[in-house]
Amino acid sequence: MTRTKNRGKCNHLHLFSDMNELTALLVSTLTVDDFLKHSAEMVARHLGAQVCSIYLYDEPSGELYLAASTGPETSGRTRIGVGEGLVGHCVSQLKPVCEGIVDRSPSLVHFEPDPENVYQSSLVVPIHRGPVRIGALEVRHEKPDAFDESDIMALLAASSQLGTAIENARMIMDMHRDGGAGPEPQAIPPGTVLRAAIASEGYAYAPAAVYRKGGAQHLLEPLPDDAALTPEDFRMALDATSEQLQALQSGFARRLPESASLIFTTHFMMLKDESFTGRMIRLIEEGTPPARALSQVASHYTALLLSSPHEYIREKVNDIEDLVFRIMRNMRKAGHHDASSGVNRIMVAGRLFPSDILRLVADNVQGIILVGGGTTAHVSILSRSLKIPLLMSERDELLLLPEDTPVLMDAYAGDIYVNPPQKIVRQFREREKARNMAARKSTDVSAQTRTKDGVRVRLLANINLLSEVPLARDLKAEGVGLYRTEFPFLIRSAFPSETEQYLIYKRLFDEMKGRPVIIRTLDVGGEKVLPYLDAAPEANPELGLRSIRFLLSRRDIFAAQVRAILRAAADACDVRIMFPMISSLDEFLEARQVVLESLDELSREQVTVCDKPSIGMMIELPSVVEIMEELSDAADFFSIGTNDFVQYMLAVDRANQRVSRYYASHHPSVLRGLKRIVEIARNKGKDISICGEMAHETIHLPFLLGIGIRRFSVDPQFLPRLQESISRISLDDAREYAEILLSRPSLKDIQEIMADRRWAERFGLQGQAGYRE
Ligand code: PEP
Ligand code: MG
Repeated sequence: MTRTKNRGKCNHLHLFSDMNELTALLVSTLTVDDFLKHSAEMVARHLGAQVCSIYLYDEPSGELYLAASTGPETSGRTRIGVGEGLVGHCVSQLKPVCEGIVDRSPSLVHFEPDPENVYQSSLVVPIHRGPVRIGALEVRHEKPDAFDESDIMALLAASSQLGTAIENARMIMDMHRDGGAGPEPQAIPPGTVLRAAIASEGYAYAPAAVYRKGGAQHLLEPLPDDAALTPEDFRMALDATSEQLQALQSGFARRLPESASLIFTTHFMMLKDESFTGRMIRLIEEGTPPARALSQVASHYTALLLSSPHEYIREKVNDIEDLVFRIMRNMRKAGHHDASSGVNRIMVAGRLFPSDILRLVADNVQGIILVGGGTTAHVSILSRSLKIPLLMSERDELLLLPEDTPVLMDAYAGDIYVNPPQKIVRQFREREKARNMAARKSTDVSAQTRTKDGVRVRLLANINLLSEVPLARDLKAEGVGLYRTEFPFLIRSAFPSETEQYLIYKRLFDEMKGRPVIIRTLDVGGEKVLPYLDAAPEANPELGLRSIRFLLSRRDIFAAQVRAILRAAADACDVRIMFPMISSLDEFLEARQVVLESLDELSREQVTVCDKPSIGMMIELPSVVEIMEELSDAADFFSIGTNDFVQYMLAVDRANQRVSRYYASHHPSVLRGLKRIVEIARNKGKDISICGEMAHETIHLPFLLGIGIRRFSVDPQFLPRLQESISRISLDDAREYAEILLSRPSLKDIQEIMADRRWAERFGLQGQAGYRE
């Protein structure tokens, strides 16, 4: 590395103030390409370099590609492998590389031999966020030893300053490239039917829109008719927006009481904010056309938020975009221009988090199609709770559907009809009407559930959102077998306080009064991401700091939740606290200790609480099978979470469509593991229930009854069907059947027995889901 100053340079301080301005311009006036080009020019100018290049890291290929460069067009390579040449080396080590004479280190040369041998000096610094590679910034000069230590510092500072903006730029470019480069996905001809996996049942027929998070910029692009918009249109749009938000808020109070007051907080604040809408009004009064004023101010704020190092602050951009989009839509309507919107659409999306679902619900989304497996299991669970049909497809071309293409989703059968003929639409409407009538009838459920030979079975409800409790009660759930407390956490933008949690749990206990409630402590981490947690990225989140491990590492959060539960349950009759993802006896005892300490603390504070909660655990990990005896001595009850039990037993990501054929709940190891667990718990006199998806899948019902499961916890809508199926099965038949399945070592054998119509007939389950007619 050289220290010789060999060329004229500017004051580096100016570089940073210029860059600040540039970053702020990113989302307003510049395209992404222009932004990168301007950045490169600015860095080159300030460092007195002859060339500055920006490389971006392309994760799928593991290569860097040249995204912008100053100076003459390079005839060299525009894609470089990580570890290859100066640039690749810098990115692989995440360290600066400074070479006085490039040719001196042939192993590090990253371009093809430069015939004119123009550039002797090269300085490259990585652009990264922690361990996450974003790209590299390179400056070059024809003189040897052109860059010194102070240039390295300056370039490093520039890269960190530009990092966030460049990361966003890369995301946008990826989006363009995804849509453009590579084998062009074919347009879908009208009348096509595509198969998809069902994640939330239902039916929807609506115009499609493609959901692009953080990609609503195009909505701000001027339309020819915008010139006719008046300041009065803008004021009317603000009023209309405020009214709509209030109506949405009260609608939410019914659908999502745990978060109603929070969803639009930012919107309302911004609507009233002097520096937001106030600034727009001033600009309009000074003569800026209303649409331009709106997009100008919005862009300024978007850029500010995007430059935050905190993810939860960057997330707020979605709220701004949503608000601005609403105002723009209302303004164009006020000015009698038609504009397409995301309201009442079927959304096609590449990736969604639970918090995105809320935005879609706010727009009354009719259905969701997720393309390419970009989801988490909790998106499916949330969609089911909100009764939004959700299909998962591998067909990338769905992301290219022209806006407003009519789409029919049959999320009972797993079919997507693109631009279907009206005849098909009519048939579906009729079918849906008949289904609704049948569903109304099927709500005739008995208070108690019995097998054909009269053995009592308890049906409980899985509750994710408070709005599901009335249905669970109407359908005579005998209690709550699993309340997933993570949902209020997942759908918010900040941790709910102890009091906020108390209010949510109290409502649950009050509404289920007289019935047992199993409340599960927070199960986040892994795929259940809390954006406001700012957690360090993990290479294997499913095997990382998640669930009970997370809670034990954050005693403050754990204790606050336990205190909220104990206080809320003061008047409840049968309260059971359950820990998720327990992997050992030690972990269970450690978690239980937190409850015991909270009880002590609350008693010292003289707070009225439920002082004798049952304390139990979920069985989700294969590691607990061998220690069930000892766990049964320690825990008051168990609930089997088959979703994770199968995932971890078979090492198959439960949300990854590409490996879904390996996710076999009927795998002999799963079946035998379940049998041992249930046997030991029952011998020890401990309650054991099942609350994973297997609990409502009719095809598994005879086996589960056969091995001794007598408590099933399922999403409320499955209760009538489950009761009806159980009443057709006699336990003798179920035991015989389970024995046969348990004796078979291969998946194929087990599948054949499960598909045998003679068994279906014996159980009276012919024609039910999973069984052949
Ligand atoms: C399970 O793993 O089966 C379960 C019920 O928990 P969750 O689906 O919330 O992970
Ligand atoms: Mg689980």
